[in-house]
Amino acid sequence: MKENIEACRKALSCYDLDDNARTVQQKSRDFYWYSPVLKELLDAVCGDFVVAPRNEAEIVDILATCHRHDVPVTVRGAGTGNYGQAMPLAGGAVLHMKHMKNVIAVADDHLIAEPGAVLARVEEAAREKGREIRLFPSTVATATIGGFIAGGSSGIGAVRWGGLRNPANIRRLRLVTMEAEPRILELTGDDIAKAAHAYGVNGVITEVEIPIDPAGDWVDVLIGAEDFNAANRLAFLLGDHPQIALRMLSTFQAPIPERYFGRYQHFTRPGDAAIALIVARDCLPALEEIVAGSGNAAIRFPVDGHAKGQRLPPIHEIAWNHTTLRALKVDDEITYLQMLLPQDDLEGSLRRIEETFGEDLLMHFEFTRFAGRLSAVAMPLVRYQSTEHIELIVETLENGLGLTVFNPHRVTLEEGGMKRTDEAQLQFKRENDPKGLLNPGKMIAFTDPDWRWEKDRIFLFNSEKK
Ligand SMILES: Cc1cc2nc3c(=O)[nH]c(=O)nc-3n(C[C@H](O)[C@H](O)[C@H](O)COP(=O)(O)OP(=O)(O)OC[C@H]3O[C@@H](n4cnc5c(N)ncnc54)[C@H](O)[C@@H]3O)c2cc1C
Repeated sequence: MKENIEACRKALSCYDLDDNARTVQQKSRDFYWYSPVLKELLDAVCGDFVVAPRNEAEIVDILATCHRHDVPVTVRGAGTGNYGQAMPLAGGAVLHMKHMKNVIAVADDHLIAEPGAVLARVEEAAREKGREIRLFPSTVATATIGGFIAGGSSGIGAVRWGGLRNPANIRRLRLVTMEAEPRILELTGDDIAKAAHAYGVNGVITEVEIPIDPAGDWVDVLIGAEDFNAANRLAFLLGDHPQIALRMLSTFQAPIPERYFGRYQHFTRPGDAAIALIVARDCLPALEEIVAGSGNAAIRFPVDGHAKGQRLPPIHEIAWNHTTLRALKVDDEITYLQMLLPQDDLEGSLRRIEETFGEDLLMHFEFTRFAGRLSAVAMPLVRYQSTEHIELIVETLENGLGLTVFNPHRVTLEEGGMKRTDEAQLQFKRENDPKGLLNPGKMIAFTDPDWRWEKDRIFLFNSEKK
């Protein structure tokens, strides 16, 4: 071990510190392997030790100690992030939030939790008081609330509440800075975007406050449609229908359902495109009527009770990024992309994509809201051949077909989701982590201030504040 790492490790030995090579390697990994490109690139990445704080005071001392010894710190929730987000590219300490897992308070309209609280437990705590959370990723069963806010972007609930960084979806973040004497900051309002989806590069989140709402009685429904365009037309109708309250709305091109839906395959028909929904129980009669009236779709997975004995996973585990996981279980040559197609020309864009890529690119949409407008975000499954081939597909989609790709085969904030430098986050990092020790290598602009994404491109998050 290098001298500074060894000195730091010794200074932190009073805490829950683990330097067993196997544990350190295990806790230095996330779902980076989802991307064959990142798998090759990041396979050797490993921290030097794992330290698990029990409270905020310990975090303050751990960060001050690491700062003194110039040791990088990468925060880890559950390690379900996809882009090597929680991987310590420069080694050093992995700050594992496993002990800080309490839901601190559930009030009428908000909930306060420690960052390591698993989202399923957070939802359960809300439900114990007749409330529910607004958004969760399809990894809700294992992912932490801190990791979701720092690394995630959207998920179940987005069809109603939009993406995670919408001002309505996070109320307050408390975080510790990486300085000689770490400060404790409380972020509210627009300032939240300085730490939300920042991969933990500008402070360690120690407390989260989110809004909660009266709990719904939700049921899972799977609809088969004659083709993907019919599925999307029906999805848009349902998503904005005044009689239908939804928590999730997803569509899938054939043959995704019959090939990859696991135990839900039982409910699909060959050639079916599909719509997966989480819908309010009292909207079911209206749903049945609308689907029957559409003429080219039918409910395949009858709601509740009818599937007794099937031991089905919750339907969100075929949607969002679980679609890729399902496909990978069947075919390890599958990977994925994230895209935004022009909403006023979805069918034209889909036709051009199909003509260009055929079955090498199969479409899957997740429905969300941008500024209140129901919109489809594309998460297509792609057949992987090589890194060069993936780059060529992205190049063809962007420059040949004029579409927007948020490349999940990238480790940095700018090249993946943001497609730009977030000036507010960059400035915040300079103030909170002047030595650049938090999750190094994830924010290009910090090390290369002249880095620029091409002008006039669409970006996902609109939080720029000078
Ligand atoms: C099958 C599958 C499905 C998925 N579905 C979705 C989805 O629907 N929506 C979605 O948004 N994502 C999705 N993801 C990505 C990921 O699961 C979620 O974003 C999840 O919420 C991350 O939580 P985590 O606890 O695993 O975070 P980690 O992977 O541990 O960390 C994620 C990032 O947050 C940082 N971080 C963690 N805790 C803190 C903290 N306390 N303070 C500061 N920084 C911190 C880490 O350094 C890292 O950069 C999916 C991933 C997989 C593998």
